[in-house]
Amino acid sequence: AHLDRIAAVDGEIHAFLHTDAEDTLAQAKAVDDARAAGQDLHPMAGVPIAVKDVVVTRGTPTTAGSRILEGWLPPYDATLVTKLRAAGMPMLGKTNMDEFAMGSSTEHSGYGPTRNPWDAERIPGGSGGGSAAAVAAFEAPLAIGTDTGGSIRQPAAVTGTVGVKPTYGSVSRYGLIALASSLDQAGPCSRTVLDSALLHEVIGGHDPRDATSLTDPATGYAAAARLGASGDLTGVRVGVVKELGGEGYQEEVRAAFAASVAQLQAAGAEVVEVSCPSFDAALAAYYLILPAEASSNLAKFDGMRFGLRVEPSEGPVTAERVMAATRGQGFGDEVKRRIILGTYALSAGYYDAYYGSAQKVRTLIQRDFAAAFEQVDVLVSPTAPTTAFKLGEKLDDPLAMYLNDVATIPANLAGVPGMSVPNGLDSAGLPIGLQILAPARADARLYRVGAALE
Ligand code: GLN
Repeated sequence: AHLDRIAAVDGEIHAFLHTDAEDTLAQAKAVDDARAAGQDLHPMAGVPIAVKDVVVTRGTPTTAGSRILEGWLPPYDATLVTKLRAAGMPMLGKTNMDEFAMGSSTEHSGYGPTRNPWDAERIPGGSGGGSAAAVAAFEAPLAIGTDTGGSIRQPAAVTGTVGVKPTYGSVSRYGLIALASSLDQAGPCSRTVLDSALLHEVIGGHDPRDATSLTDPATGYAAAARLGASGDLTGVRVGVVKELGGEGYQEEVRAAFAASVAQLQAAGAEVVEVSCPSFDAALAAYYLILPAEASSNLAKFDGMRFGLRVEPSEGPVTAERVMAATRGQGFGDEVKRRIILGTYALSAGYYDAYYGSAQKVRTLIQRDFAAAFEQVDVLVSPTAPTTAFKLGEKLDDPLAMYLNDVATIPANLAGVPGMSVPNGLDSAGLPIGLQILAPARADARLYRVGAALE
């Protein structure tokens, strides 16, 4: 049914970069056969899933949305893919994204944008717009995203779906094509909070192949979602972040947020306002730390090891000149912009002023979270300042594009988990998202509070 749906709507939506119906059906049949043979199957066995194209999949094209990786076939599976396969979840395909996960609209994909299923003239968010759109358009019941500064949560917000960025280290990064290693985290995209919880339990847990992997078992999320579904939040302390949701946020986003805060109160939660003053500097710090890490991570795309190789049109063919020609042609403008920003921020003489200062801001943000979580169990805010904007509207204005992530970035800088849940529609009929944040390793709280709001 999902393959039929993809065939019917993906010509317009363009959520997928790669599908292979035969392969998907073979995986589904293997599950059926195992069931017929009386094998003990995982509860999620047979549930199909879409995977963001930044996650490597053995023998299946993986481009990270970049032309530089066109035609590359990874020789191994990411740990989370190994876990999906072990659970018997057939893969529907690889989803579109901004190139190397840099962007908030999917328009920076090297393969053309994804469209928002609610309004095809609008963006589905980014960088994981493909995963969110696939779920919103009923092309997939579940999808995998990655979130470095909001790329799971912001697409969820503008497509009326649920997206979770787990605690840093909760889901293995082994086999993710790294954007910014200290910020990257894979997580679930779904239509309900319980679905995300069930998927988080499949993909989470310790992985010795990821040096930053936590030892915590990935359990208790579905139980928390079921508890929250009762609608009773008696005793839960909720903090409204003063610095998020004020000026610069669409009026209807603010109104929907206020209505949900009232709903939390009615459910028995104790709501207080909490101040996190350093959040005002989060965006600036992020756009130094991310390019710095990205410029280093992307150095491996040199025209020799992976995918595209371009030889200089004239003159000698040296390694350096092949690298320059390949990167010149293979990377898009946004990727080049960030490599330039990152190498500049890391260069001798500027390192302390830029990268060093940004790292200090990062510590201040972590302290703000620590202080806030002494007072409350979870924090809430709007997920994004506006509902989905029109394709092309912010493409020529990088700063306007970056501002989409003001509310989601603090969680990545501190490593804490965050979730976006649907929060109604604006007057144009476009989805609004509400963000819930919890302390590191307390992801279960997101599922409880998120389910209570459904
Ligand atoms: N939109 C943000 C950026 O462009 C977030 C990206 C992400 O989370 N991968 O960096």
